[in-house]
Amino acid sequence: MKKGVVMPSANLPLFINNELVASQSDQSIPVTNPATQEVLTKVPEATDAEMEQAINDAQNAFYQWRDVPPPERARLMMVFQQLLKSHHDELAEILSQETGKTFADAKGDVWRGIEVVEQACNIPSLLMGETAENVAGGIDTYSYMQPLGVCAGITPFNFPAMIPLWMFPMAIACGNAFVLKPSEQDPMTPMRIAELFAGAGFPPGLLQVVHGRKAQVDHLLRHPLIKALSFVGSVPVAQYIYRTGTSHLKRVQAFAGAKNHMVVMPDADKAQVISNLVGSSVGAAGQRCMAISVAVFVGESADWITDLQQAMAKVKPGFWNDESAGFGPLISPQAKERVLGLIAQGKHEGAQCLLDGSDCRVADYPDGNWVGPTLFSGVTADMTIYREEIFGPVLLCMHVNSLDDAIQLINQNPYGNGTSIFTSSGLSARHFQHYIEVGQVGINVPIPVPLPFFSFTGWKQSFYGDQHAYGKQAVRFYTETKTITARWFDPGMAATPNMTIQMR
Ligand code: NAD
Repeated sequence: MKKGVVMPSANLPLFINNELVASQSDQSIPVTNPATQEVLTKVPEATDAEMEQAINDAQNAFYQWRDVPPPERARLMMVFQQLLKSHHDELAEILSQETGKTFADAKGDVWRGIEVVEQACNIPSLLMGETAENVAGGIDTYSYMQPLGVCAGITPFNFPAMIPLWMFPMAIACGNAFVLKPSEQDPMTPMRIAELFAGAGFPPGLLQVVHGRKAQVDHLLRHPLIKALSFVGSVPVAQYIYRTGTSHLKRVQAFAGAKNHMVVMPDADKAQVISNLVGSSVGAAGQRCMAISVAVFVGESADWITDLQQAMAKVKPGFWNDESAGFGPLISPQAKERVLGLIAQGKHEGAQCLLDGSDCRVADYPDGNWVGPTLFSGVTADMTIYREEIFGPVLLCMHVNSLDDAIQLINQNPYGNGTSIFTSSGLSARHFQHYIEVGQVGINVPIPVPLPFFSFTGWKQSFYGDQHAYGKQAVRFYTETKTITARWFDPGMAATPNMTIQMR
């Protein structure tokens, strides 16, 4: 099959052993441009035989790959990083077409993934274990980090470049093989990334891309050769993956939904607060797990809501290559219906809708899944719009009297992905960072996603597992520690039975 850009209208192949392979499945799912509903391609639901081949061939690739020295693995990662960079715009264009993201946003999606590949280039030093000399007379102990075997990844629609790249480069750099099941809503970007991976010179079978939905995920969850599973997606599916994967005795990390609050202190810079709130709430149409969806105004900072409303009203959605567009459409008509339902529910439950994007239209694109910027004030913690992740361009405003009230509100929320505080007081910021029960905290930074030398550390219902994505935690997740205790005998020394355990 032809290599190159995945062409619209073709049936999407699987990616097995570095080849594009047509699936034998008679089940497929259309992939659409969310601004037009044009069908870009159809994604097959891989058959059981195709799943078996992908996994078994990955296992065989692993047996060879685990012995490749980490510096050689790192060199291939460097070539992959170069290829991703030189195809950055092409990848972003594919990504924009299937997600509707603006071109600038799509480039950011690809770039954040490239940064993880750069981290994977550091694998020789990341894989260094521990040593201790002379732990007992003439005995040394040291540890190695060895790969697990075949690992799998199941990824969501909202970052089709970055999130697959959170997973497989680190897993493969650690010496594993990897089977990726990308979102069926935008699988073209990960397929193109897989082709570039093969182009970098990695051996066949190390990265397999299979398509489908629940049945294919279940195959991975239950397969004895799959040793570890990385998942990113919604809370109910994350809970299902974590429970099912661990009940099959696999290592699982499952990243889930979010409700991220930004605390606005009255001593904050008002212009910064407003521009950061607008960008972090409606950017990418609010379809980011680190989007700010709740602004918590402390004291008189609530007076700024009118200015916020005016700034939000100026942001317009549009087609991906429209440079004046602030964001694109929602991923699907179903996602749009769900968000409109939640907006209606918010009004019904008594929140004040200061800006309503329900009836949003974009010239020349009448069929797009558009929702305009939407702003609610007077929101209370019992309302459905507060309790549920909306995943749309909708910002809720709440009002509290003190920083401690804001902290209490956020700590009572079941999610714990990200949060931020805007203030000019170091003391307030420090108090917040210490007492807040959320895994990623921004101080005058609205979306505090850590760079890949740290890890992506969501808490509470936003994450199930122990070791997080990328950084040193990914190395621990994708490896097993082997600890060796060694003694070398002097050939001239007499061997005497050691009958006692010596206590000192
Ligand atoms: P989703 O849960 O619907 O789908 C994610 C993946 O799971 C897809 O590959 C899908 O095919 C598969 N899947 C869906 N239903 C399944 C089932 N019943 N059994 C097995 N597999 C199933 O999520 P989505 O709508 O694609 O993504 C949006 C969600 O992802 C949001 O909730 C968002 O907050 C979350 N997310 C979280 C993070 C994070 O780091 N915490 C990052 C990005 C997105």
